[in-house]
Amino acid sequence: MVNFSTLNPQSTIANPKYRGRLAPSPTGYLHLGHARTFWTAQSRARAHGGELILRNDDLDSTRYKMEFVEAMLEDLRWFGFEWSEGPDIGGKFAPYNQSERMSFYRAALEKLQAGGFIYPCTCSRKDIQSAITAPHPENDEEPIYPGTCREKFPTPSSQLPTAKYSWRFRVPDGEIISFVDGNYGEQKLVAGKDFGDFVVWRHDGVPAYQLSCVVDDAAMQITEVVRGADLLVSTARQILLYRALGQTPPKFFHCELMRDERGERLAKRHDALSLRTLRARGESAEKLRAGW
Ligand code: GLU
Ligand code: ZN
Repeated sequence: MVNFSTLNPQSTIANPKYRGRLAPSPTGYLHLGHARTFWTAQSRARAHGGELILRNDDLDSTRYKMEFVEAMLEDLRWFGFEWSEGPDIGGKFAPYNQSERMSFYRAALEKLQAGGFIYPCTCSRKDIQSAITAPHPENDEEPIYPGTCREKFPTPSSQLPTAKYSWRFRVPDGEIISFVDGNYGEQKLVAGKDFGDFVVWRHDGVPAYQLSCVVDDAAMQITEVVRGADLLVSTARQILLYRALGQTPPKFFHCELMRDERGERLAKRHDALSLRTLRARGESAEKLRAGW
């Protein structure tokens, strides 16, 4: 008989310690919108007495520059962020730079291939655009893939295309993917309608965001993902990836996006609101986050 009185109530199985993360991509300078989402992530980690992990999402080497990595760390520290694991300090789930984690992504890709969850796709962006009949949803930039290559290659793929190809995840058409968001409540997205088959491995050999994110959040034992509301649809895609990889998804908390005076969401091109610029102008981090 199990003696419950000897079990630790903080047992990592029954009640895993909260682990949150900040996962910036060094494709430009961080701006106030990132800072606000990250601040929520940090506050939630602290409120739960948990850990906050910094991960450097630097896979997209065509878009990221080394100077942005340094700037990113500096800007985060200046703003008041503190992390207990990260590319600068290491930790038990190192490395924390995605560019150094290719073996993890490759293993996941192989698992998806073996399970028949993905198929090679030789379509170019232009092919996809011209095959699309319906406009894509406002909140998600990726057009719904028309399924052109779905049946072209036998699955699991024994015979691969000779032209350049990416790997796409076959979504279960019509299935409702639901999850309870910590901020927005119950979410229901229909596979094949709200989002289509998505790329997990790009034709240039780089793992796509959806895959690298799931692989790392799972490997780093993240218990709650705090991110912008622009990623709600991606969260549904990622839930499918967790399932295919035999992993349990974390909890999710999506934050409202910060908008400029014209109602447009902040992007890295809003230089006036970059943390660099604000700091150079003599603004204080405390004041900037007052009221958050
Ligand atoms: N590196 C990704 C980004 O900056 C992370 C998004 C996420 O939080 O999953 O968009
Ligand atoms: Zn295709």
